[in-house]
Amino acid sequence: MPTHTEEPKLTDDPRLGKSSASSFGIDALCPGRQALLQTLPELPDLPEPADEDRERGVRLHAAWEREDPSGLDTEDTELYIKGLKLVEHALAAWSALVSSKLFQGPPVKEGKREERFYFRTSDAEIAASGQADRHYTLGSYGLCIDFKSLWCRSLTPAELNWQLLLLAVLIAREYELTHVRCAFVKPMFNRLDIVDYNAEDLKRAESAVQQVLWNQKHIDQRRPGAHCRHCKGVTACPEAKAWTLLPSVQTNAVGRITPTMAADLVETLNLQDCVRIWETQTSRRNIEDAIQARLKSLPMRELADLGLTLGEPRINQPITNPADAWCFLVMQGGVPTEKLWQSVSMSKTTLTEIVADELGLTKKAAEAWIKDKLSPFITPMPCERPLEKI
Ligand code: SF4
Repeated sequence: MPTHTEEPKLTDDPRLGKSSASSFGIDALCPGRQALLQTLPELPDLPEPADEDRERGVRLHAAWEREDPSGLDTEDTELYIKGLKLVEHALAAWSALVSSKLFQGPPVKEGKREERFYFRTSDAEIAASGQADRHYTLGSYGLCIDFKSLWCRSLTPAELNWQLLLLAVLIAREYELTHVRCAFVKPMFNRLDIVDYNAEDLKRAESAVQQVLWNQKHIDQRRPGAHCRHCKGVTACPEAKAWTLLPSVQTNAVGRITPTMAADLVETLNLQDCVRIWETQTSRRNIEDAIQARLKSLPMRELADLGLTLGEPRINQPITNPADAWCFLVMQGGVPTEKLWQSVSMSKTTLTEIVADELGLTKKAAEAWIKDKLSPFITPMPCERPLEKI
């Protein structure tokens, strides 16, 4: 029998501003996150940036919910079919398991699709929720299905996944179950990722959920890390900014920051922080160069232990005999001389060395000589004004 009595109020946000299963893993890692999210203004009217993958995911989820692929293109229809076959497979395996344990066969009951379940504290206060794409029950056994429509390469495996853990607890509470199987359905990989919670596991899982919720209430601390990439509060979070600007984070490619992301992030920094970061950029580059040099000097085995190796060197192909190349191009290649000049430039550094050597000048005198004598052939090209300290 379902255990909850009071229906949550209908608002635009079915999560009611509380933790939700899909981001419960981030809440587990960062206790101060929910408090930060509460302080953010709601921006319901802002158009979401176009994201083809997200829109595909929404279309596929809607198709699975209705079991109607109309409107999907050929590629997504294939994923849709694969997803349903995986569900069939998961359902058949689970029904067989339950029948063998309970000596009871189908009918399996399917619950409402995309149903959201609410986790209440002992005071009946809603503290978290989770939405099950599909769920089924038979006796005291339950099965919960979560579709992962596209690549989801960084998805935490089912066994360690907080989303499934919270869903298992929610469904177990709702139907008073003693065993819940949760499965990620991943049609892109044509595979299922399954975790089983027995009565003991469910007790432990519920304690873990309570612990995360307790931490949220009592530990006002934000803990940044790679998980910040998936946090809605990232652009407003000072800890995330400090973390992403750490040289160690910038260099180890955990969550690569694209130029657009960097521009957004920097836009929210305070200007004094911008000055401080700009002032120390040389030190950071020096550290990064030294890190690269140290890593490159490691023996291959040690490098492999760190998940690294040395790639194939890039082969540069400079024209090292320009005089002969020039003759060939004019005499045999038929390239007109006046066109060829467009491909030629002179290295001032090398020219300075040659002039200094030939005329017996110091480097500085050679530079002055070149500037003076070659001025008719030099075109000044102003660069952008550099930042300088006053
Ligand atoms: S951005 Fe990171 S540190 Fe900040 S609230 Fe989110 S998860 Fe926590």
